[in-house]
Amino acid sequence: MGKNGSGFDIAKLRVEPGSKVKLAKIDPASTPSWKADEGLADKEQAAAKLAELTQRLTALQSLLWAQSSERVLVVLQAMDAGGKDGTIRRVFEGVNPSGVRVASFKKPTEPELAHDYLWRIHQQVPANGELVIFNRSHYEDVLVVRVMDLVPEDRWRRRYRHIVEFERMLADEGITIVKLFLHISKEEQRRRLQERLTEPEKNWKFDEADLVPRARWNDYQKAFEEAIAETSTDRAPWYIVPANRKWYRNLAVSEILVKTLEGLKMSYPPAPPNIADLVIPE
Ligand code: AMP
Ligand code: MG
Repeated sequence: MGKNGSGFDIAKLRVEPGSKVKLAKIDPASTPSWKADEGLADKEQAAAKLAELTQRLTALQSLLWAQSSERVLVVLQAMDAGGKDGTIRRVFEGVNPSGVRVASFKKPTEPELAHDYLWRIHQQVPANGELVIFNRSHYEDVLVVRVMDLVPEDRWRRRYRHIVEFERMLADEGITIVKLFLHISKEEQRRRLQERLTEPEKNWKFDEADLVPRARWNDYQKAFEEAIAETSTDRAPWYIVPANRKWYRNLAVSEILVKTLEGLKMSYPPAPPNIADLVIPE
């Protein structure tokens, strides 16, 4: 095994606290920290590596569930057709559904709108032993809300601070937070939206409303840049994952999750006392 046997450096994708984010400088088709071994095709070697990571993730999640003291929150954000659903499907293949939950945040309902924007979010955070994936999140409240002018600027701007403090509270109370921005190009989005029109089994995913954010692409990129820069912290870091190539996206997300979970240094709970002397009756 060459460089990618264990050498994938997730720090290359992490947004250091306080640093500026310029999405135009990050090629969505790039594959940072990845290089296939001599003579092997990228996709082929990446598939083998992903299979290994999937096994490790499955083992780590078993441990998380068995130990039942750590809690893990994965926040997924992207433009439409950015690959949030595909990432969830592919990266979490094989985990125990009892301990893993996806919370999807859509346009707020009436009761949700009648509360502060973190109200619906807080209800979905992971409990002991759980790994929860946010498919969209409280970040919509500084993204779509900003671009579509749903609340005045002074109001959404204050939310960066709320979010940093909310996430710090969650981290202080024992939640490990990982935030992932899947970075696709406008051309790749066009290709994927087109597929939704032309491939019958993808028609259901097509939503004409997605053309509105597409028309505001640059405003969204700017909103993402600022939101990510303002809220990447040591305890709740953002990772920007170039996501035009699905094989790289899946691999990078798996690496980030495996390394984060390994960092928890979990172990199985101790066996009950006298286990060696116990006999299961006939
Ligand atoms: P989808 O992920 O395709 O099901 O779409 C969900 C839609 O809900 C997207 O258009 C989001 O922008 C929108 N959405 C999610 N959260 C909010 C929010 N807090 N305010 C307004 N729209 C939101
Ligand atoms: Mg959609």
